[in-house]
Amino acid sequence: METKKEKCCQNVVDSGSYHSRKCSHNAKVVRNGKHYCGIHDPVAVAKRDKQKQERWDKKINKRKEEFKRQSILKELAKDIPTDKLGDYKLFKKD
Ligand SMILES: [Zn+2]
Repeated sequence: METKKEKCCQNVVDSGSYHSRKCSHNAKVVRNGKHYCGIHDPVAVAKRDKQKQERWDKKINKRKEEFKRQSILKELAKDIPTDKLGDYKLFKKD
């Protein structure tokens, strides 16, 4: 007896509309008795979310770092006399 091919149970929203429909992919995994395709497998989704989160964190950290750098620069530059501000030789290495 052949087992019926289960479909993914996930509802998906069509892009550009509010209608949701069932995912049309064949199920690859069963989680808590529900069938999911490779894309909607909660484990795979969690993994993707985590990767997304990590990328986002990296981006945020980079921004924070940049902000810190700017603050330090501002702090370092605050004692430069106004008449020396136009003198780029102060800031540039030869
Ligand atoms: Zn699916």
